[in-house]
Amino acid sequence: MGNRAETSLRDVRHIGVLGGGQLGRMLGLAGIPLGFRFLFLDPAADACAGAAGDLLQAAFSDENAARELAAHVDVATFDFENVPDTTARALQEICPLYPAPNALGAGQDRAAENALLTGLGIQVPPYHLVSSRTDLLDGLELLGYPAVLKTRRLGYDGKGQAILRDPEDRERAWQKLGDAELVLEAFIPFDAECSLVAVRGLDGEIGAWPLTRNVHSNGILKLSLPGVFDREIQSVAEQKMKTLMEHLDYTGVLTVEFFLAGADLLVNEFAPRVHNSGHWTIDGSQCSQFENHLRAISGLPLGDTGMVTHSLMFNWIGEMPDRQRAMEIPGLHWHDYGKSPRPGRKIGHATLTASSMEELRQNAVVLARIAGGEFPALLETIFD
Ligand code: AMP
Repeated sequence: MGNRAETSLRDVRHIGVLGGGQLGRMLGLAGIPLGFRFLFLDPAADACAGAAGDLLQAAFSDENAARELAAHVDVATFDFENVPDTTARALQEICPLYPAPNALGAGQDRAAENALLTGLGIQVPPYHLVSSRTDLLDGLELLGYPAVLKTRRLGYDGKGQAILRDPEDRERAWQKLGDAELVLEAFIPFDAECSLVAVRGLDGEIGAWPLTRNVHSNGILKLSLPGVFDREIQSVAEQKMKTLMEHLDYTGVLTVEFFLAGADLLVNEFAPRVHNSGHWTIDGSQCSQFENHLRAISGLPLGDTGMVTHSLMFNWIGEMPDRQRAMEIPGLHWHDYGKSPRPGRKIGHATLTASSMEELRQNAVVLARIAGGEFPALLETIFD
């Protein structure tokens, strides 16, 4: 069955998802009211998406398991972009898979991703490929310090990367990462980090949510605030998104992360899936990224991506603040992924909604105090 099997999609009831993490779980939670049932494939017996559907426990490299999943569902997608290409293609022989595997492949290797974007005229940070120590020295000669050394594959949430400020950092990073294929990037002294989450339907219709301002700490997203960038930046970001989506003939939700530096909007990376910086859309927009992804892959009309209320998302990493106290705050929407807490693990988030920016800020200060740690300081940077 080809990837353009629109007619057979009319009656999609059962959706397969490669990956059963929190993104799969939230896809399930969004899809159940639409009448969908879900089957998730995940190596973990306790994958948290299991609460929203059936779970097929198997490795992502298990092509037979992918075929079994495909045999049970009408259409498939993924919540995790590092699914092997061979698994995706095995599945696609049996049922439609959106987004198509070409989008998966494009986002799995930073070098290929940068080359693709550059080829499309979309600006990325200056970079240099590194396979040897000599390449690293050449790259630093070209780009200068500070620079960021990243693994080409399997890097996410700041994993597999190091900032090089001097030759000592360089040696330390080379010891840690030197066995892998790498990319050296110029360090961008950005004014802000932001992301655009957008959806493209089977008929090519595109909808984009407002750009979200993101604050990270140790490479992990901590706060996301939509609706604070002007129209001009929004339209530049949307243009880049459209170019990329059309090039990939993309179906579903795609996320592009940007560095805003002066008037430049440089792409850091893209993710061919729903994204952490789009979680606010569940509580703050007309149609969430999860629902719209499901609408897109099952050939339904797309929902409105407009923001209905001011929103701010707090990400809970490793531990969650006191739920009782947090829920006393008006406009607090609590999302617990049902995962056991572990340092560095994404276990939940909360979105605050409010009718004005001032009310949002005041309530956010209270929540940041309850959450403690770095939140009060991080909050000051997102509203400035
Ligand atoms: P990544 O895993 O590539 O999204 O990187 C995680 C975080 O590291 C980003 O959100 C930025 O805060 C920071 N970072 C990554 N690459 C660069 C860069 N070239 N210049 C400045 N900061 C960067």
